[in-house]
Amino acid sequence: MILGIDLGTTNSAVGVVDSGFPILLADEDGRRITPSAVWLGQDGSIEVGRKALRRRAVDPERVLTSVKRLMGRRWEEVSTESSVSRGVDGLPRILGKRPEEVSAEILKELKRIADWRMGTSITKAVITVPAYFNDGQRAATKRAGELAGLEVVRILNEPTAAALAYGLDKLQEKSRVAVYDLGGGTFDLSILEMQEGVFQVLATHGDTRLGGDDLDAIILAWVAERESLDVAQLSPDALVRLTVESERVKIALAGEEETVFQVPFFDGSRSLEIPVTRGDLETLASPWINRTLRHCRQAMADAGVMPEDLDAVVLVGGSTRMPAVRRAVSGFFGKEPDVSQHPDEAIALGATVQAGVLDGSLRRVVLLDVTPLSLGIETFGGLMNVLIPRNTTIPCKAGEMFTNAADGQRSMKVRVLQGEREMARDNWELGVFEVAFDAAAKGQARVGVQFRIDENGILEVLARDVSTGTDTVVTIGSAAVDVDDEAVGKMVGESVEHAFEDMAERIFTEARMKAEELLPAVRMVLGQGLATPEEKGEIEAAVTEVEEAMANGAANPLKAAVKRLDTATEALAARLVEKAMEEALEKRLGIG
Ligand code: AMP
Repeated sequence: MILGIDLGTTNSAVGVVDSGFPILLADEDGRRITPSAVWLGQDGSIEVGRKALRRRAVDPERVLTSVKRLMGRRWEEVSTESSVSRGVDGLPRILGKRPEEVSAEILKELKRIADWRMGTSITKAVITVPAYFNDGQRAATKRAGELAGLEVVRILNEPTAAALAYGLDKLQEKSRVAVYDLGGGTFDLSILEMQEGVFQVLATHGDTRLGGDDLDAIILAWVAERESLDVAQLSPDALVRLTVESERVKIALAGEEETVFQVPFFDGSRSLEIPVTRGDLETLASPWINRTLRHCRQAMADAGVMPEDLDAVVLVGGSTRMPAVRRAVSGFFGKEPDVSQHPDEAIALGATVQAGVLDGSLRRVVLLDVTPLSLGIETFGGLMNVLIPRNTTIPCKAGEMFTNAADGQRSMKVRVLQGEREMARDNWELGVFEVAFDAAAKGQARVGVQFRIDENGILEVLARDVSTGTDTVVTIGSAAVDVDDEAVGKMVGESVEHAFEDMAERIFTEARMKAEELLPAVRMVLGQGLATPEEKGEIEAAVTEVEEAMANGAANPLKAAVKRLDTATEALAARLVEKAMEEALEKRLGIG
């Protein structure tokens, strides 16, 4: 099993494919989202997630959040961060720890939740990173995983994960997708293009300091101004409480038109109680949303893509739950965004899909693109004639020409078969139908049979009577690709188990059909008295051998005897043809 992990700036989540479904795993409190917060106690004790956030009121300095911003950075790049110091190796430290060591604590917690939920220790993971992360930042993320006891089998771009969660990998080749990701601390817009089954990031643009937290700060500043509060003078505890209330109001207004900003006794004696409408919030949010749209414009220009070139727009990140954000995005791209997934779970879900594909538990999804078993029709002697071998990539088509087996035959039965066995009866019948044609001598009617499987796995069988051009088309459905793994395993296993006897039966059947064709012809020729005595002796011996082998059901002896008979009659057959041609010529000359 491989875990899918979204290691986010504000929140993280972990998932796994369980019984064929990608699911996110909830902790003991039933929560699938874990805040990316770590409390590093003075005494070395550590707490992660909500428990860490609770420490903010009493020990705000030791509660670390947004560590992702520091991952893989050089000291010079982050020296302005208040919590960051410079280590002896010249690399940034937070409370004496490397950023990846802090991130590792979050990953350990996610691993703990997964191990507990699944009842086993899972040691491999796919972890997502922003598309703009450079090699150093990706390497640091990988190290964080290793420190948490995880082998990081893939670092996946977040917009790609989002596209996977929305099932956009099922789109056509060359499809283009925009992923608008507005989380708690960062914003980015990525343009992806599907090429040969994988997503390429055409362009990504954003701001690592633009997210829902900023809007919380904007709300707080608005409250402070109205109430003539000096934010700089507030105690850390009061500041935390006002910030928490700002976020609550923001989230409440996504569902309601109005709410009250309420913080009782936030500063010893003072309380706040301010009604806020959604309209108020949207006025405050407008410049903030417009900043995201500027990045969208830039990303689109970088990718050389116009809004109408996009096949889908998806929203990711908790802040895209805001109705004003959704409106702005649909206005900008000129199309309604796909909101079918939880915006704060889509990336973890996509990472889980990728993990499932890598560990094989989502094999069916991938295998849907190939035929799990061979497809063919029954031919003379009850043999399986394969038209599309197993493991052929779909869509695909293949065809062959067939003739009638008997004189005066007026129709042909087309039995559509699936399986790996040589004899038709051992395979599964997917369908059967008759193709009618004018009565014809043996081998004279010609019927072309074509199998076609479209991208949805639907098999269509077309049979054409070549003489009239009449087509019979039968749709078989998705049974050609939709076979459960167990049945495929059983069929393949049986074909291996019976390989020798199956092959012997095919050889015998093919030789018997040849013999049945040869014997009457040979008898007729012998009756014409054209054979020399030696030829006659050899032919008769061969005929006896063939008859004996047929009676014994011996495949290889029959094949050899048929060959001997064929050789023994070769010279005679040539003389017969010569004679027939001479006669025909004499006849023509006589007439002429
Ligand atoms: P993420 O980083 O994707 O987990 O997003 C977290 C951000 O989404 C935080 O800033 C939350 O305040 C914000 N958020 C979550 N739900 C809502 C909502 N309903 N309306 C507005 N913002 C929200």
